[in-house]
Amino acid sequence: MPITKKTKFRACSDRVFRTAGRVGDALTGRDLPVPLHEFAKSRNIQRLRFEPLLSTAGLAKSQDGFEIYLNTEGPGVDQKAGTVLDAGDDNWSGLATPSRFSVAHEIAHLIFKETAEEGSQSDFFRENADKLEVACNEIARMLLIPKQLLIREVGDRLFDASHLGRLLTTFRVSAEVIVRRFRLADLKSVFGNVSGLIALAREDEKAIRIVDSHSFGHLALERFGSALGRSGGRLEGCAIQDLRLHSDVDRWLRQEEKGSQEIRVPWRTDAPERLPCELSFHRICRVPLVLLIGVKIAGVPEANA
Ligand SMILES: [Zn+2]
Repeated sequence: MPITKKTKFRACSDRVFRTAGRVGDALTGRDLPVPLHEFAKSRNIQRLRFEPLLSTAGLAKSQDGFEIYLNTEGPGVDQKAGTVLDAGDDNWSGLATPSRFSVAHEIAHLIFKETAEEGSQSDFFRENADKLEVACNEIARMLLIPKQLLIREVGDRLFDASHLGRLLTTFRVSAEVIVRRFRLADLKSVFGNVSGLIALAREDEKAIRIVDSHSFGHLALERFGSALGRSGGRLEGCAIQDLRLHSDVDRWLRQEEKGSQEIRVPWRTDAPERLPCELSFHRICRVPLVLLIGVKIAGVPEANA
């Protein structure tokens, strides 16, 4: 069977994912946030340069290796044009959360470059440009939130929204990054016997809606997937009210900064059973309202007493 472009890209990205996994494993036991400057240095990236750019960030060759350029007009960037931060220093610790993601994304590009076969690299990357960007974002999440450190920091509070909120500071990542981190394949078996939902939600003119989410376990996939007509438990765009968690849920989320409630949610629209759950929420921003939500499934569907 001939090797198609698709399988060739897949084979390459599988190797890059394994490399990113090893980079993360090497940090087991270390403090957080992860030392991005060390990752960079080990891949021959010598420095960060801040300049006005047309894109958020970029990777360039230099005489002594590589350099990452960051756009001074990018979100959260307060370094002036012309600022240079060497990878040998620990002064990358001052980078804002969006810049850390951009740096991790560019390091991912470099790992791809190291991993892809020599020769037709530019054609290979051009032909797979969209998939490459998606993969580099995923690798960036793995680098910023290594598996073993995530397991250590989450403990048994996966569905505790306030705890997840604290982890944003611990890992210096955005809420999108942490919620999407749970979707990556290396964590599938780790949280295999828990059941629930974590979500990032934002208010628009009409409703508080889910921006990103991840469902854990078959009960959650069924309750927040099939039962709502959503395959795979992906709830992006869904109004919180439409999850039918509790009639007062929107009011709680708007009024309180954080909280948790034991609730019994209807298992299906056409059945009387209730599912015992624990809802927790944690506000990240007031205007517009942005919050993390956790729903821990605490039992099995039971008759409505
Ligand atoms: Zn990119």
